[in-house]
Amino acid sequence: MQKSVLVIGGGPGGYVAAIRAAQLGARVTLVEENKLGGTCLNRGCIPTKALYRSAELVDTLCRIDEFGMQLKGFSYDYSALKLRKDSIVAGLVKGIEQLMKANGIEVLYGRARFTGKKTVTVAFPSGNATEITADAIVVATGSVPAEPPVKGLDLPGVIGSDELLEAGSLPKSMIIIGGGVIGIEFAGIYGTLGTDVTVLEYMPSILPGVDSEIARRLATSLKRRGIKIETGVRVTEIRRERDSLKVCAESGKGEMCHEAATVLVATGRKPNIDGLGLEEAGIEHSVKGIRTDGRFMTSSPDVYAIGDVTGGIMLAHVASEQGKAVAEIIMGLEAPEEKVIPSCIFTFPEIATAGITEEEAKAAKIQYRTGKFMFGANGKAMAMGETEGFVKTIVDAQSNKILGVHIMGPHASDLIHEGVLAMQCGLTANDLERTVHAHPTLSEAFYESVLGAYGRALHIIPPRRP
Ligand code: FAD
Ligand code: NAD
Repeated sequence: MQKSVLVIGGGPGGYVAAIRAAQLGARVTLVEENKLGGTCLNRGCIPTKALYRSAELVDTLCRIDEFGMQLKGFSYDYSALKLRKDSIVAGLVKGIEQLMKANGIEVLYGRARFTGKKTVTVAFPSGNATEITADAIVVATGSVPAEPPVKGLDLPGVIGSDELLEAGSLPKSMIIIGGGVIGIEFAGIYGTLGTDVTVLEYMPSILPGVDSEIARRLATSLKRRGIKIETGVRVTEIRRERDSLKVCAESGKGEMCHEAATVLVATGRKPNIDGLGLEEAGIEHSVKGIRTDGRFMTSSPDVYAIGDVTGGIMLAHVASEQGKAVAEIIMGLEAPEEKVIPSCIFTFPEIATAGITEEEAKAAKIQYRTGKFMFGANGKAMAMGETEGFVKTIVDAQSNKILGVHIMGPHASDLIHEGVLAMQCGLTANDLERTVHAHPTLSEAFYESVLGAYGRALHIIPPRRP
């Protein structure tokens, strides 16, 4: 008999689960209360990267003389940048709608809520409602911004990433609370587009968890671009002062305050579970998200949860990978092996990491070697005028397997996948050395960083021999 699968949430987790389940022969219904594509397409990955590209062009145009060209001034209208972003998003959402149709997936636009163990009620905007039950239910309701314990969050001008992406004009000045991934991506984009940006981060460095050398170098690079960064400060209060907002923070040196027209709160996200009726379905959860076992099953049989709502790594490709895996498990296939997860941060320059950091290797008392190659010594990077940054590879000193790759530099987000492939397949430095890397390419920097772990990099001046 054909299996029925109900998916709640049409983000990159939910819609991929729906497609894969349909591919495997299930009758699939997907419920979405807003637009298909979820946070990623509508309020996250895609709109930010569309604006990132515009900022990247502005950055290049501002230093066009480096390429031997002169430009007699240039201008841009932020509303046109926003229009471009909105049309890219709309095109992708339409694409997902077509994918649903082509895979025979029924999409219901309404809000889902559990009303029993395996019963879900969908409330439509018209006021009507319907009750659905299925052989398996996948919860993929994503995440929403977490509000920090800071006074004054409700003041006009204090916004989150959703509101900033919807704004029709460029903020004149902006204080960003939180120097994590969202805070730093927005700082790079808006700082480059012309906003006067200040980042206030609680931890001793921006991008906690990222390779410390990369985080340190990036902070220097952003400061060089005029972005102000204060670390080790905890924002406690926002007040309105005449025409601006005053943000006050506790630091080791006492209270410090900064003023700006706009305040962006980017202090993390929390699983979206409010009003889902999890109690009615007996689904165990906490503020950290829905609890699942190694096969995405919740405490309620045949009800699964994937993506941001489980409170794990909040990345679109993680949600999609889990969506594919949960559909295969539901349809009786083997659970996939554990995967190496890359993480990319779209700053100036880009950052991409996979595997363990040097700090983690030290903490785990792993014997390791590191190889590093600077883009300043890479022909393609020089030709592109993008020489800032490096590739760092961490290799197990005993097995010679690649344990971590950390890149800061041009197209880091594309380059990381050679490292991901190496780690997923358990390749050694020797395996990588056997592969030919075309010249001139940015990939040569990865190859050289692997050789560098053994002191054999070719395009680095070796230390003087006695
Ligand atoms: P979501 O994408 O949040 O989708 C959940 C869906 O469920 C939503 O469409 C919602 O409307 C729907 N829903 C919720 N409750 C109900 C209900 N009761 N009934 C019906 N529907 C419901 N990740 C990256 O990998 N790369 C990036 O570059 C990146 N950039 C980001 C930038 C920003 C500003 C933000 C905020 C996030 C970014 N992320 C990025 C993270 C990424 O967007 C999320 O990890 C990803 O969208 C999670 O997918 P999901 O399917 O779990 O949930
Ligand atoms: P985050 O956890 O990365 O960063 C939040 C930061 O705010 C932390 O560094 C924290 O120390 C700081 N903070 C918290 N309270 C503070 C206070 N009172 N004062 C000063 N600093 C304070 O969260 P985020 O940046 O909001 O991102 C949320 C999620 O979205 C992340 O999990 C990330 O994976 C995902 N995301 C990914 C991408 C990408 O992959 N390129 C882009 C954007 C977002």
